[in-house]
Amino acid sequence: MPKSLAEIVRDKMEGGTLPLDERIQLWAGMGSCQPCTVCDLAILKAQVEYELQYDDREPIRLHAGCRGLWEAERRRRGYLPKGRGRPARVWTTSRRSRQIVQSAYVQRT
Ligand SMILES: [Zn+2]
Repeated sequence: MPKSLAEIVRDKMEGGTLPLDERIQLWAGMGSCQPCTVCDLAILKAQVEYELQYDDREPIRLHAGCRGLWEAERRRRGYLPKGRGRPARVWTTSRRSRQIVQSAYVQRT
């Protein structure tokens, strides 16, 4: 029986392919036809692509639905703030065709 996407998300979090920590920045835009980190299918131009930026790793590209599953799993494990901390800021700076839609709950020192 094939694994569900939620199981794939859990496996990839355990294997380190998907991070547990908060991203530095979140970009959203049209799909770039590159594979989604969760489901390995291309994110088509007609689909929304989320790109998570980190300081210390390659960007992670996700379908909107795959990102939802990943965030739900992180929240379940207590890695997402629940109404605590700063609210996410909305950025309008454009980079290529994308926009930063949300900055992170990053704790800067
Ligand atoms: Zn996907």
